[in-house]
Amino acid sequence: MPPAALPSPLTPLADPVVERAGLELRLKRDDLIHPTVPGNKWRKLTPNLRAAAEQGHTRLLTFGGAYSNHIRAVAAAGAARGMSTVGIIRGDELADAPRNWSLALAESYGMRLSFLDRSGYREMLRSLDDPGTLRELEARWGRCYVLPEGGSNALAAHGAAELVAEMPGLGARDFVCCAVGTGGTLAGIAAALPEGARAVGFAVLKGADGYLEGEVAALHRLGWGREFGDWRIEHGWHGGGYGRVPAELDAFAAGFEERHGVRVERRYVAKMLWGLYGLAEAGALPRGGRVTAVVTGPPDPAGAG
Ligand SMILES: *Cc1c(COP(=O)(O)O)cnc(C)c1O
Repeated sequence: MPPAALPSPLTPLADPVVERAGLELRLKRDDLIHPTVPGNKWRKLTPNLRAAAEQGHTRLLTFGGAYSNHIRAVAAAGAARGMSTVGIIRGDELADAPRNWSLALAESYGMRLSFLDRSGYREMLRSLDDPGTLRELEARWGRCYVLPEGGSNALAAHGAAELVAEMPGLGARDFVCCAVGTGGTLAGIAAALPEGARAVGFAVLKGADGYLEGEVAALHRLGWGREFGDWRIEHGWHGGGYGRVPAELDAFAAGFEERHGVRVERRYVAKMLWGLYGLAEAGALPRGGRVTAVVTGPPDPAGAG
């Protein structure tokens, strides 16, 4: 695996909306850290790859949807480390359909794909910690290191926590913002922040109010043996649900790209920035604050769709 370019750049951004709100904004460019295992996926996978190797595993198995960034990242990381990979994909209707670009890319790295109908998929994820489920998976695929959907386990959260160490000098006026899919990234950031600084996550899923908070708190208990009170999740910026990009959100992201020359991934990063600007315009962040927006991944490749 080519090494990651760390620390990722931390770049100030001059923007009238943010300045009118009395805020300072900077981007933490985690989208630039790795060509094939980018952003928070690199952060979250790295400690898991180490653990898998230490435990003598040669196969990674994980879960995701039809366009999962995590699925592609695991496929690429496994190929680079000489490990075989299995992707359990949500949606049995995809099995016989022509592969979309994302699944095709995962397969090009050698990942074997297996498709489950939605209820079977949900049931498998729900019972992932049962020994019976692991036995079932290993009966089919052989001994494997199992990563949950989105890759968010305690090790992953600790990997995400490391990005905070690349931002020295955080304090009481700081807000660190990220998109929230499964919550692993937010959990890591929140756990690592120094006293006074706060983390704000922006949910990309609809109707996940309460659920995602529970996931983050569970990762904190698992990974740190305690809970933290320095974070919250905004639920008003999912744009209609996972993978949905309404015209208004797309226009916002396009405007941001044009003003700042930074391309914006739409399913996560655009929603976080949209929410952040919405809060700033509404005066919901205290004047004098410094906001660091974590760019958790790059846009889809050109021509994807
Ligand atoms: C996977 C992903 C996320 C979500 O991260 P979680 O740790 O699952 O909350 C955010 N941004 C991008 C670009 C991603 O690929």
